[in-house]
Amino acid sequence: GAPQARPRRVLLKLSGETFGGGATGVDPDVVNRVASEIAGPVAEGVQVSVVVGGGNFFRGAELSQRGMDRSRADYMGMLGTVMNSLALQDFLEQHGVETRVQSAITMGQVAEPYVPRRAIRHLEKGRVVIFGAGAGLPFFSTDTVAAQRALETRSDVVLMAKNGVDGVYTADPRLDPTATRIEHLTYADALARGLKVLDATAFSLCMDNRLPMVVFGMEDGDVAAALRGERIGTLVEAG
Ligand code: UDP
Repeated sequence: GAPQARPRRVLLKLSGETFGGGATGVDPDVVNRVASEIAGPVAEGVQVSVVVGGGNFFRGAELSQRGMDRSRADYMGMLGTVMNSLALQDFLEQHGVETRVQSAITMGQVAEPYVPRRAIRHLEKGRVVIFGAGAGLPFFSTDTVAAQRALETRSDVVLMAKNGVDGVYTADPRLDPTATRIEHLTYADALARGLKVLDATAFSLCMDNRLPMVVFGMEDGDVAAALRGERIGTLVEAG
């Protein structure tokens, strides 16, 4: 094919639930497995940044339903994502990958501040950049942050790793046994067919900016395959 202007650059979104291995806190075996799947493609030259969720610690919406102030609960959620980021950083470095954590909430002892141009420099040098603390803003989701960081770092695609589902289905596969996985979809199709892919803010950010997205699962090898650009899960694109 035609020579590429620059190496493939991707943003990987990992759910916090995955990191917890089904429980509260961090399961080191899971994080180690994910780190090993990132290390290979990075060594091959793929530029990777990561947004990790925080659902294994706190979800602001859930805490607020149980009586907490929503904004404060959301900040707790964001701090959870920083712990996940540090865990991933540790295991990536054990696999020989250079990393930087950039936090949207200032905490100089553990992370750089979020400086987009510096993040891009790290990517160009082959470092993995892990974006912690979400957007630093209550009422946002880490899926929305994944789309925003992918856009600001000029990534080619946002890779949404999901827990327990390996793509976008014609209906909820847990409720409808006839549901089938869709391989390719446009954002307009998803809207017209009422398919719920992401929350509305994340979805419209991707659609309005024509950012391609892959939604895929977390079985062994899936993260590595997605980073390398193998066909996996569901590809959602602008029409
Ligand atoms: N959060 C937030 N602003 C952000 C990102 C995250 O307030 O920009 C909070 C929010 O409370 C959310 C929690 O952090 O529930 C954890 O993130 P999320 O639920 O997106 O994680 P995931 O479901 O991917 O594990």
